[in-house]
Amino acid sequence: ETIEIKTPSKSYPVFIGRNTVRSLTDFIIGHYRLTGKIMIITDEKVAGLHLHTVKESLSQTNIPICEYIVPEGEHAKSFDVFYQCQSFALSENLNRKSVIIALGGGAVGDVAGFVAATFMRGIPFLQIPTTLLAHDSAVGGKVAINHPQGKNMIGVFYQPEAVFFDLDFLRTLPPKEWRSGFAEVVKEALIQDSDFYNWLLSSIGNLNDLTEEKLMHMIKRGIEIKAAIVAEDEKETGVRAYLNLGHTLGHAIEGLLGYGSISHGEAVMTGTIFALHLSQRRLGLDFDMQRFISWIHTLGYETTIDRDDKKSELLSFMKRDKKNVSNIITFVLLQKVGHPQMEDIPDSEILDSLSLMYSGK
Ligand code: NAD
Ligand code: ZN
Repeated sequence: ETIEIKTPSKSYPVFIGRNTVRSLTDFIIGHYRLTGKIMIITDEKVAGLHLHTVKESLSQTNIPICEYIVPEGEHAKSFDVFYQCQSFALSENLNRKSVIIALGGGAVGDVAGFVAATFMRGIPFLQIPTTLLAHDSAVGGKVAINHPQGKNMIGVFYQPEAVFFDLDFLRTLPPKEWRSGFAEVVKEALIQDSDFYNWLLSSIGNLNDLTEEKLMHMIKRGIEIKAAIVAEDEKETGVRAYLNLGHTLGHAIEGLLGYGSISHGEAVMTGTIFALHLSQRRLGLDFDMQRFISWIHTLGYETTIDRDDKKSELLSFMKRDKKNVSNIITFVLLQKVGHPQMEDIPDSEILDSLSLMYSGK
């Protein structure tokens, strides 16, 4: 299956299926007169699991390959790692005809994309996402690294030349990472497509043994939703912000607990429940919350914030979010499933609603 992403700055294909990595070679031969090298950026874990498959596939091109292995997880998105990647690219004599391949989850995609966007003012890059979550992050062209003062604070919009989503790579993901990625799928369904949401609710009862058919449908629909939004609003001046459903509180939870101690998507799922609560309260959203919560608990999510005294800290994390333009926190809420809306919420109401999130609810 192929989905075409059309943004004002570029159109590019997303290939989804088994063995898509084989078409990588054809794509490279077909699209580039490469005189430069291919630089693969991957992390320590993915290198051990899947790098050989990609290298084997690329060996047919006879193009020289080099690889740079970054630390796992958020540690990959540091200024130091970014700088080391640039130094490595220079020492390997990469040039403007070279291609950078991001092989890994969202963290690898974000740092590798930012390296590609800035090396010699920008060279082509390809995404090979290896997590479910990266169905979201590999599409849409946001690339960034973190600063000690905030996540994703340094970055640009830079679209890849193509995305190769190979379902076989996902089979080695631990349960926590399935949950992380699935939260973004649920988010996409909630903001855009109530039929898809109902399908998820009735068909996905366990994330550990998804059939290929279900997995394919889920990823495809998720990417289509993201693609439609990004096509309309590449640089996030409008509707793209709806993709932040659940992320306002989600990012604050990640910040409070320390990035990496909870997966991105698990934090976002808690944030999504919070946004649904606010939506019911403010916009009269008609939604079966009990069913939703029991469903996601069955799927293995932890969704409560266990310490009451953290409320004000969460609030101050939310205030630091770069998406806020003033001191007032704006949330993505739902009028109905499939109909998002931005709402400014006063601090007092946030604190009050946070109380709903403590253990037992
Ligand atoms: P990740 O790259 O940190 O991957 C999560 C973990 O899974 C890592 O430990 C990694 O080594 C491991 N892993 C990756 N592939 C594997 C596989 N096939 N088998 C076994 N283990 C595997 O990150 P992620 O969870 O994919 O994404 C989170 C990151 O993505 C965050 O930094 C977030 O900011 C970013 N993100 C970016 C966007 C965007 O639009 N650019 C959107 C959402 C999230
Ligand atoms: Zn996210």
